[in-house]
Parts: sequence; structure tokens; C-alpha cells
Amino acid sequence: MAKEVNIDWSNLGFSYIKTDFRYISRWKDGEWDEGQLVEDNKFYIEEGATALHYGQQCFEGLKAYRTKEGKIQLFRPDQNAKRLNNSCERVMMPGMSEEKFIDAVKQVVKANEAYVPPYGSGATLYLRPFVVGVGNTIGVSPAPEYIFYIFCIPVGPYFKGGLSPVNFTTNDYDRAAPHGTGAAKVGGNYAASMMPHKIAVDKGFADCIYLDPKTHTKIEEVGAANFFGITKDNKFITPDSPSILPSITKYSLLYLAKEYLGMEVEERDVLIDNLDEFKEAGACGTAAVITPIGGINHNDNLHVFHSETEVGPVTKKLYDTLYGIQFGDVEAPEGWIVEVE
Ligand SMILES: *Cc1c(COP(=O)(O)O)cnc(C)c1O
Repeated sequence: MAKEVNIDWSNLGFSYIKTDFRYISRWKDGEWDEGQLVEDNKFYIEEGATALHYGQQCFEGLKAYRTKEGKIQLFRPDQNAKRLNNSCERVMMPGMSEEKFIDAVKQVVKANEAYVPPYGSGATLYLRPFVVGVGNTIGVSPAPEYIFYIFCIPVGPYFKGGLSPVNFTTNDYDRAAPHGTGAAKVGGNYAASMMPHKIAVDKGFADCIYLDPKTHTKIEEVGAANFFGITKDNKFITPDSPSILPSITKYSLLYLAKEYLGMEVEERDVLIDNLDEFKEAGACGTAAVITPIGGINHNDNLHVFHSETEVGPVTKKLYDTLYGIQFGDVEAPEGWIVEVE
């Protein structure tokens, strides 16, 4: 039988824990090698690596879920593969086949099976794939070699005491430029977000919510999650902008709101001065699933949606549907679930 690990599943947060195996594959002379599982959680790269100097890298985030029957499943990993390839293309790194990506994810989950939390704990195994430019380059140009790597950590449910709303604040900083790298999952976007995040947290907010970089009148997204709102006439609305990171959770909710909950859905501009149109709002992403937004502070004025303490009924329904699909309790749309056997 599989090994057992001594982890208190109910008290997991979102922090690094060393699991047993990680996957590493190298790209050289135009192709990726086979890739292999290794135990060492450190790897060595050249001092002239473009990932270190010019931020030539990108990453992904997805989870493995334990079902009631004890099976392990992934949620839409093909979408992560596609997005990784889009990010790679934007920063001139080689992509890979969906097959290679999903196979590597499966290998890591399988090898660390003991770390996939039990059903009912709300905890999951979080996977972090990434690609970095390595080899010695000192001019600003694409690297001669690349590493594709995946490690995993068990993580707790984002909300221990059920879905509780948080407040966000707008700010004067931009996460990404209008024609920059906002739609690519690259580390540089995150480096740029650390200071505004700290300023927001110091003021007592969970995070900042970014406005469109050109006019600062439209909501773009939260630091690491997309925004959605439920209008007073029950439409599911999410902002449309080329500098938003295309969240797989967001696109899944657009589908579920329409097909499972029978709502009208729209991707369009969301004006920061017109928050009154929404009865509920939330942030969505792999880590948090759905975070209900209590209120948004803008120009020293806190606009409260449904409530600062309780999740709204539509947000709750969306959460239950998505969460149910991810853990195998609700039937998924075709092709969304991939079992790790
Ligand atoms: C990863 C990410 C998200 C969430 O995307 P999911 O695919 O839903 O996990 C949202 N915004 C940013 C900036 C991100 O990097």
C-alpha cells in the first residue's frame, strides 16, 4: 500500500511543504527531453540565465482533488497547458504538447499520491508548473536552453470557516500595461503587484483591485484572481480586457452560470463608478475558487455589495456548483475532469 504522511489536513494553509517528487525536463537544440521525476528540491542554473535577469519565465497553477470514492482527479488541465503555451509564446520560450504537460502533471500527482488530501477535508494538492530560460545569455535575447518543472504541495481550503467576504481597494498602480504582458502568466506581473498589495493590506484590505491601465475607470482584476459581478437582474458579468489574465475559473463560471444556473452571462466593461448595478460580486481563481467581495473601496468610499459578512445566494450557488464538479460530486461538462490513475 501507499505510504502515509503525517499531515494535519484540517490545518493546512497555503505554504511550502516539501513533497517527495518533482518533475524536470530540459529543452536544448530545439527539443524537450523525456523529463524525469527527481527527489532533490533544488536545481542549478547558470548565472547568465534570462529567467534571473530579464524575467523570461512563466508559470501555471492547478489542483488535484480527491473524490468521495478515493479517486484523484484534475480540473481542466488542458486549459492550463494551452495557457502555458500562450505565456511561453509571449516571452519567446518554447511551448510543449498538451500531452507532455498533462503527462508530467499526472506523474507528479501519482508519485506524491500520499500528499493528496482526503475527501471532505476541503484540502487539495496544488501543482505549480513553470518554464524558465536558462543557459548563459547576457544581452536581452531569448535563452538558448529552458527548464520545464512541476512541484506540488498540499494546500488547505482558502476559507476555513466557510465562504466569508473580503474587502478590496482600488489604487493608483497598474498591474500590466495596455499592450504589455497582462494576459500572460509571467512572474513580472507579480513582482509589479507586490508593492500595491502591501499598501492595500496595510490599509486593512485583503488586496487591491486594478483598474484598466489606460483610463482608470474600469475594473480589470484583483491581484491574482478575476472579478465577476451579479447584476440586480441576475446576469453574470465579468470584465473584458486584453490586459486581464484569462482565468480558467472565470471561464468555467461563465459556462456554469449559463448552462447550469440558466443565467445570462456577459463579458463587458465594468465601470468603477457604476458598482450599483451589482447585487453581488466575487473574485475567482484556482487558489480561492470563489472569494465573495464584501465591498470595494474607491476614493475613500466603501461600496458594499450583498454584505460585508455573508456570502450572497448566487455567489454561493456558483461556488457549490464549481466545487462540486471539482471534487466529483456534481456531474461535470464533458472533458473537464481528467482522472489520475
Ligand atoms: C492565475 C491567475 C488568475 C486565476 O486564474 P485561474 O486559471 O482561475 O487560476 C487570475 N489573475 C491572475 C493575475 C493570475 O495570475
